[in-house]
Amino acid sequence: MEYCSVQGVKALCEEFGFRFTKSLGQNFLVSPQTAARIADAGLADKETTVLEIGPGFGAMTAALAERAGRVVALELDRSLFPVLEKTLAEFDNVTVCEGDVLKTDLAALFAGDTNPHRCVTANLPYYITTKTILLLLSSHLFERITVMIQKEAADKIVAAPGSEQWCLFSLLCNYYAETKLVFTVPRSAFSPQPGVESAVVRLTPVKRLEEAEEAWFLKIADAVFAMRRKTIANCLKALLPAETLAQAAQTAGIDTARRGESLTVAEGMALAQAVQQITQTSHTKKSIC
Ligand code: SAM
Repeated sequence: MEYCSVQGVKALCEEFGFRFTKSLGQNFLVSPQTAARIADAGLADKETTVLEIGPGFGAMTAALAERAGRVVALELDRSLFPVLEKTLAEFDNVTVCEGDVLKTDLAALFAGDTNPHRCVTANLPYYITTKTILLLLSSHLFERITVMIQKEAADKIVAAPGSEQWCLFSLLCNYYAETKLVFTVPRSAFSPQPGVESAVVRLTPVKRLEEAEEAWFLKIADAVFAMRRKTIANCLKALLPAETLAQAAQTAGIDTARRGESLTVAEGMALAQAVQQITQTSHTKKSIC
């Protein structure tokens, strides 16, 4: 893409009087090789519609449009629209929409879409990394989510359970999806250069629990990380009667004297299933009485 270079970005800024807004995470790619690598990592083909969050000047959008059936590019900053009209003029499979990813009805963006596959590939605005990834995962709309994010956030996604980096975000990402760090990207690939290192991660959603069990998993996850250094028993005190917790922990084979932060995805799921089983049984018994 001819605009994906330091000179290209500078020329577009001058032509359109565009000024970068730091608070919107506007660090644009100036490395066509990196844009191509990220688009490749997204694994989209002509039967796939890709949601791109934040097209910027369209460096990633162009790389995606060459590979995918259709690209829906959602951009918050209106002042980028005239630029995108120019840089994406040659592509008839791109739809640019205005909106905040955190406030947009994402399903509605795909109304009437005929492609059988749907994924997200994007160089995310870093200030909303965690919220955006969790929103995309919990939407259950996408087969794959491939995003460039700050390296620190990527390390949390692929952290080992119980390690220093393992946190609520790690637990949730690895509950909703299989996770992989694909490659790292140097600051020199952007203009202006960000203050942090970047990495590309791929999350492949998997269906793990039924709705009621999932609701318990999410409540348990929140509770154990709200007071992560306390024991699991302590963390879950306000959520479950002591008897229910003791019974569920025994069924799930979990020592509740361990720290909340040590809970793995598999353990959280086993606990959620056991709690659901117990609460459902006691509810059924009460109804019969
Ligand atoms: N994709 C371009 C690239 O790689 O060169 C730009 C990526 S830049 C890191 C992030 C983009 O997200 C910017 O264009 C910014 O305006 C946009 N953005 C910021 N906040 C957003 C939000 N809440 N919803 C949608 N887009 C947003």
